[in-house]
Amino acid sequence: MKALDELTFDNRFARLGDAFSTHVLPEPLDEPRLVVASKAAMALLDLDAAVAETPVFAELFGGHKLWAEAEPRAMVYSGHQFGGYTPQLGDGRGLLLGEVYNEAGEHWDLHLKGAGMTPYSRMGDGRAVLRSSIREFLASEALHALGIPSSRALCVIGSSTPVWREKQERGAMVLRLAHSHIRFGHFEYFYYTKKPEQQAELAEHVLNLHYPECREQPEPYLAMFREIVERNAELIAKWQAYGFCHGVMNTDNMSILGITFDFGPFAFLDDFDAHFICNHSDHEGRYSFSNQVPIGQWNLSALAQALTPFISVDALKEALGLYLPLYQAHYLDLMRRRLGLTTAEEDDQTLVESLLKLMQNSGVDYTLFFRRLGDESAALAVARLRDDFVDMAGFDAWAELYKARVARDGDYTQEQRRERMHAVNPLYILRNYLAQNAIAAAEAGDYSEVRRLHEVLCKPFEEQTGMEQYAQRPPDWGRHLEISCSS
Ligand code: AMP
Ligand code: MG
Repeated sequence: MKALDELTFDNRFARLGDAFSTHVLPEPLDEPRLVVASKAAMALLDLDAAVAETPVFAELFGGHKLWAEAEPRAMVYSGHQFGGYTPQLGDGRGLLLGEVYNEAGEHWDLHLKGAGMTPYSRMGDGRAVLRSSIREFLASEALHALGIPSSRALCVIGSSTPVWREKQERGAMVLRLAHSHIRFGHFEYFYYTKKPEQQAELAEHVLNLHYPECREQPEPYLAMFREIVERNAELIAKWQAYGFCHGVMNTDNMSILGITFDFGPFAFLDDFDAHFICNHSDHEGRYSFSNQVPIGQWNLSALAQALTPFISVDALKEALGLYLPLYQAHYLDLMRRRLGLTTAEEDDQTLVESLLKLMQNSGVDYTLFFRRLGDESAALAVARLRDDFVDMAGFDAWAELYKARVARDGDYTQEQRRERMHAVNPLYILRNYLAQNAIAAAEAGDYSEVRRLHEVLCKPFEEQTGMEQYAQRPPDWGRHLEISCSS
């Protein structure tokens, strides 16, 4: 374990120079204080959890202090937002403080979100509020615990700094960790500004640091793009299988590493609803739950366009063609496991689709349905779950098919079935209303609820004593919370 001042920096992105990012110092928050820290994320930097409680921790991650070897930079990028191209975006309120490498030899970007104005702030104030910082923190760590690739979050630092949104709120910072903060939009920026040399430098950087195995391939850039396609197909399959709605899948929010990135008005589904739109400002439903699948491909096409200087259009098209079949294979594999199946049959897709249709029509809780399905034998479980469906006859017909399918699947005890299913079907997810409760308490100065919720979400598959209230459907007030984009 290391002390806070013993972190080792190796700022590879900063070394790319001023065409890629701008040196900016964090703007400190008033009266910085620890809201919540992630023990698991701290371990990634070889930091002992206890250092989070020291005053210097809040000073470092509240923008008051900086390591001598940190080189804070605001990155420049662009991107397609809601389908339209915005020529210049960039870190408007976040700074890459530097890259730290740990004892295991991994590099982690330290990105401080809410660190003040930069040359890319446009009309914004460079700040993040407590509410959105808590949401990003909880979501990053919850997704990771579910096995869904995501940026991580080290801590949230609160403050007394006033920040104006729809009303006056308090500023906060969240320290985000990722192996890279390079987005699809980085490539788009250099492509559309016609800077081929810098674009090649960026591509070399990503290839060498993040896809070194692609170097061995006859066409390294193509191999890298293929890998990005594959990772995104798998990522989005996981979102769909677990009911995660990102909300702002602009190409500037898509990571070159295929991880969940840049959290805004995201939501986990409570009731299953394929048409769910979590982003209050997304009037057309471009980023609705079921649209995430084609949008994933759309975003990859936007990246492909930016890579045309390096890769032939035909090869890019062929690689893009991998997306949908790979997505479908991953998705079906996950859904089979969620249903407790260990083998594959041709009709499984129909079995999944017909179940989702029934759930949709009856507003069945997506997470609890699967959890309860594994509590008992298939026959007992469906008999109990049937009450949740309006179309009981429809559900009975599905249940007959399911029971027969389970019988064909194999011979295992109920203990084995439960264990296997509970290992893939979480009991606790980050429901919007749970986040809302934690935020309301934190805004009133009580951080215990954020901390407790974070602890619960770190072990989503494990039933935790005394935590039943975190595994409930939302109360009426929490069913359709509108989360605004302003954060
Ligand atoms: P987002 O919707 O958070 O992905 O942000 C889109 C773009 O707006 C990025 O370039 C952000 O850095 C920038 N941005 C968002 N909020 C702010 C803010 N409060 N101040 C400055 N820039 C911001
Ligand atoms: Mg963003």
